[in-house]
Amino acid sequence: MITSKSNHLKPFHKLLKTLERLPDLPVDVSRNAAQAAESLTHLTELLAEGEEQGRLAALYRVSSMLGGSLNLDEVLNQVMDAVIELTRAERGFLMLITPETGDLVLRAARNFFGESLSEESMQVSRTVIDSVIRTGQGIVTTNAQEDPRFSRQESVIAFALRSILCAPLRSRGSVIGAVFVDNRVQTGLFDEPDLSMLNAFAAQAAVAIENARLYTQTDQTLAARVEELEILSQIDRELNRQLELDHLVEVMLEWAKRGTQATEGWIALYDRDTTTLAHVSPPDQGTPLSPAAPIVAQTFANGVPTAFPPQPETNTPARLAVPLQTAKPLGILVVERAAPFSEEASKFLGRLASRAASALENARLFQAVQDANQAKSKFVSVVSHELRLPMTSIKGYTDLLLQGMVGPITDPQKNFLEVIRNNVERMRILVSDLSDISRIETGRLRLESAALPLNEVVDQVVKSLHPKIQEKEQNLRVDVPEALPKCYADPNRVIQVLTNLVSNAWKYTGRGGQITIAGQLDTGQLRVEVTDNGFGISEVDQPKIFNQFFRSEDEKVREQTGWGLGLNVTKNLVELMGGEIGFRSKLGEGSTFWFTLPVEKS
Ligand code: ADP
Repeated sequence: MITSKSNHLKPFHKLLKTLERLPDLPVDVSRNAAQAAESLTHLTELLAEGEEQGRLAALYRVSSMLGGSLNLDEVLNQVMDAVIELTRAERGFLMLITPETGDLVLRAARNFFGESLSEESMQVSRTVIDSVIRTGQGIVTTNAQEDPRFSRQESVIAFALRSILCAPLRSRGSVIGAVFVDNRVQTGLFDEPDLSMLNAFAAQAAVAIENARLYTQTDQTLAARVEELEILSQIDRELNRQLELDHLVEVMLEWAKRGTQATEGWIALYDRDTTTLAHVSPPDQGTPLSPAAPIVAQTFANGVPTAFPPQPETNTPARLAVPLQTAKPLGILVVERAAPFSEEASKFLGRLASRAASALENARLFQAVQDANQAKSKFVSVVSHELRLPMTSIKGYTDLLLQGMVGPITDPQKNFLEVIRNNVERMRILVSDLSDISRIETGRLRLESAALPLNEVVDQVVKSLHPKIQEKEQNLRVDVPEALPKCYADPNRVIQVLTNLVSNAWKYTGRGGQITIAGQLDTGQLRVEVTDNGFGISEVDQPKIFNQFFRSEDEKVREQTGWGLGLNVTKNLVELMGGEIGFRSKLGEGSTFWFTLPVEKS
């Protein structure tokens, strides 16, 4: 449709007009000329109609191809192909405005850059495109040189032999780019209907382009968001794994620097009474900060990542600071680099800080608990040490008095002295358990392991507990084969473990009950089991049985003396010696406590 078919009839129109104007024309010639003019007009109308239909059909055909893809480059190429097909232009290109910068960028071209395009002709096409984009109006020109819009352009002379068609791409009220096509004048001229058709097509093409652009953008934004979420979840995992404060701040800083492309960074945390902030990462860097220091005060006043521009006069780099806070202020994280930080960096730091703050709070609580635990262990260790001496002396003098070494004693005196001795024994067990726990918790418990025959340990424990067992008329059965290999463990601690378990069986089994001590080799380890048919342990109590100070609420248990520390110490000792401990029990039927010990290495 470069030139409308009706254009071919123009010479006939001209001829007839000239004929009409000739003076003294014979009547029949002028009548024939008038009839011919009438037929010509009719023919022109018919042709125009046909052309219009042809245009519409072509427009429909190429337009229906649009929208099949959401890939921007693909859509742009489709549009370009369609424009060339519709206009039958020799060459064409499409430019889009980059939304962020407003720059006009060449996005697709057909048969254009194959020919070497002169500077001038490029300038002409730029002038045409700029004008189309500025005014939002399409342009058709048959001869740029004659066109008053461009005649002032020096370059037009060089470009004069081209016919140009350019239409704006308009989406949601604004121009997003333009399509430009041209032809040599000899090969064809564009006319207004061509421009209307290109305008109509451009309107649809712009929608398809905008859709693809939005989709690509959404796709990219989504991909970026997914990537950030993945990074953040990795950060979450890493942060939550750290309960060690020093390590945690290091991890935090590393991520902060990586995520903001910073070169340096630091973290300062508030002290307990929030009067100063001490640099904790990197450690020992700089003097403590005051909460009134501008970087701290301003960042906390904003409550969000705050950018501090670089100050070349003082050699200060660009800084991005974020408050670390939960319900209360915890500290400040600052990253630094020569160039100012981007908006993305700021957003990332904000997200990181909100995650890091809760991990930091946990680590601080954990640290506080650990500190308290250390303080408690120290206290217990001092107290138990101080109590041991007076207790030994009370016990010693009580024994002397009971044995009548300082003179005869009456029966009531004997009773009182026995009460004293029993209570001192209770205290001795408590103090010894507490001191063991404190040593275990602070890692100060030393084991002196040796090869040890199991039945010797069992004999010793049985001997010491036999009187009590007999007194309660309980039946004790020992089933430890002599041929068992020796275990490798600390003899005193194995005695302590077994004594604890057998004493419990004795305490928590009624008069006349049955207690069994059995030993066996089990998958390369020595396994000792202490079974009773006593009170048993309820299912509710079972999970708490090894907790410090746990004692069952059962009345029968409470009638027995105890502190609820024995099993906890026992478990720790067994595990320190490289074994395991466990139990099975049924309320009202009895319990079996078992532990394993490593076999002596031959
Ligand atoms: P204590 O005996 O001083 O209370 P332990 O730590 O040795 O402390 O035991 C904790 C609790 O476990 C006991 O108070 C009791 O409720 C339960 N228990 C331990 N051994 C047995 C057992 N053989 N039968 C029933 N209950 C037991």
